Amino acid sequence: MSNWTIEDAEELYGVKRWGAGYFSIGEHGNIQISPNHRKPDVFIDMQEVLDEMQAEGIQFPAVIRFHDILRSQVEILNETFRETITNAEYEGEYVGVYPIKVNQMREVVEEILDAGEPYNYGLEAGSKPELMAVLAYNDNSEALTILNGYKDEDYLTLALLGRHIGRKMIVVVEKFSELEMLVRLAKKLKIDPMIGLRSKMMVRSTGKWSSSSGDRAKFGLGIAEIVNAIEYLKEHDMLHCAKLLHFHIGSQLSDIRKVKEAVTEGARLYAKLVQMGVPLEYLDIGGGLGIDYDGSSTTTDSSRNYSTEEYVADVVYGVKQICDLEDVKHPNLVSESGRAITAHHSLVVTNVVGEVNPAATNYDVSPTEGEHVLVSNMRELIGANDLHPQERFNDAAAYKQSAYEAFKLGILSVLEMAKIDTMYWMTLTEIHSALDDETRQIQELEELEDTLASQYLANMSIFQSAADTWAIGQLLPIVPLIRLNEKPQVRVSIADITCDSDGKIGKYIENNHISDNIPMHRLNKGESYPIGMFLTGAYQDVMGDMHNLFGRLTEVHIFSHDDEPGAFYIEEIVPGHSAEKVLETMQYNTDYMAKMVKKAIDKQIRKGHLAPREGVRWTDFYERCLSGSTYLRYDK
Ligand SMILES: *Cc1c(COP(=O)(O)O)cnc(C)c1O
Repeated sequence: MSNWTIEDAEELYGVKRWGAGYFSIGEHGNIQISPNHRKPDVFIDMQEVLDEMQAEGIQFPAVIRFHDILRSQVEILNETFRETITNAEYEGEYVGVYPIKVNQMREVVEEILDAGEPYNYGLEAGSKPELMAVLAYNDNSEALTILNGYKDEDYLTLALLGRHIGRKMIVVVEKFSELEMLVRLAKKLKIDPMIGLRSKMMVRSTGKWSSSSGDRAKFGLGIAEIVNAIEYLKEHDMLHCAKLLHFHIGSQLSDIRKVKEAVTEGARLYAKLVQMGVPLEYLDIGGGLGIDYDGSSTTTDSSRNYSTEEYVADVVYGVKQICDLEDVKHPNLVSESGRAITAHHSLVVTNVVGEVNPAATNYDVSPTEGEHVLVSNMRELIGANDLHPQERFNDAAAYKQSAYEAFKLGILSVLEMAKIDTMYWMTLTEIHSALDDETRQIQELEELEDTLASQYLANMSIFQSAADTWAIGQLLPIVPLIRLNEKPQVRVSIADITCDSDGKIGKYIENNHISDNIPMHRLNKGESYPIGMFLTGAYQDVMGDMHNLFGRLTEVHIFSHDDEPGAFYIEEIVPGHSAEKVLETMQYNTDYMAKMVKKAIDKQIRKGHLAPREGVRWTDFYERCLSGSTYLRYDK
């Protein structure tokens, strides 16, 4: 224990590998955050954040947002494009957009727009409500608004309203009928739209979103449809409105070679269309810039084998090369990075509220007179270190099976079963701790690690806070927030508090590989054990559902500030959903519910079964719970 160092913890949990410069472990063994890429020496100590949250009465679970990380990511992406464009003597500009579907929280969108203002960074919407939000919020007339997704007349009319109020709104045509509708509406309303054409792309990306490209892709026009669209625009004297060529081959692109391939295909198509007389000005390369969730820098689904610099260079130099060869003016470049902008800025913090471990049973196993032979057999395995571990394991399993049969036949009592069960787990624990390099090779014995791992119960719902871990096996780093200067001594997996066996985390990062469970610290009685689930800012924050009626989490918005104690302040607290609120979304009338419970209590008072004061206390308690959190309330 004494020679466990911060470096060991760093190696085990890989914080720096996935932390992208924002997260690391401080000298006191707490997670620390360096949220501003321009001030890498300013650190926020997680313990101080937790202390302040407690002082504010904020309960777990909560989402912590670091606004400076959002700003940093916007600055890094825009500055990388600008620098690369200058170095490459590229003649177009970079005018990126943030796709709000990745995290539509108003505060997130506002922060991104504010940080992006100097770069004319815009927004992307993919549905009517998203369009209504971007119409109201993206009021920078130099920034683009890109409109993707399937559209109806109202959607297109709102886009034309955007043109009316001076916005650079580009309607990206996802299917041919949208073009017909748009042309008709534009003529009727006498407004020139800005039109983008989305290409289906022939390149096939890899990873979980590979179906976003190729012939069977859900969105976009095939090559013949693009040619038809151009003819159609010509016929209607609207070819001058065609401004942008768009593609998006999938999210979380793990392999840079696919990016290069897509850029080559997209730039070639762009150049050929310009040569055909289409007055395009923008090439939009979509999203897909990946995040290294597991810190491995590989092409696994949860990683990426390239840096942001490399991605940007491949785009800028790739487009330049092809346009130069084709003798076509360099287009302005648009990208729609969502995941890369938002993933790092938020995390879920919660506490471990309990432990489920069959091996932790402790019932008095001392021998009693006349006990059944199965009980004494099992007892003989305890401390039997001279037996070969495999033999000892086989015996334990066989005795347990016999005991089970005997219990079903009524031969063993409940108390005897309790003893046998306790001794069985004691034996397995002993076998496991005595394994050496050789015996660990035996599969059944190696699996003991998993069998004996505890489940730590985290006060959260993965369906609300980490939907992708359940839906598509997304890996998210989970790390204790404190005590990282202590050697972790138990292997655990994390389960949530929903009544769903799927409510658990199945994959962990351990020493740069993926593991089924992870070492953590023993829970100390009366002490909170806070853990963090990191990189939840993209998609996870906003995709969650209310399985078991666990609602949205309380949010804590943090800004870094050099002059504040601890270099931060809590700028805003957004209360999470109360029980009342989630019940109401399911059509319950909570006033009625409170009234019915009160009525039942009053009846007991009238019958004399409850004292009036006591009845009032119960009524108040029910109402207090309605307005309270949906999660467990643990003061420690
Ligand atoms: C989802 C989506 C994006 C965002 O992709 P990321 O991988 O999160 O950057 C961008 N463009 C379109 C069209 C999308 O559907």
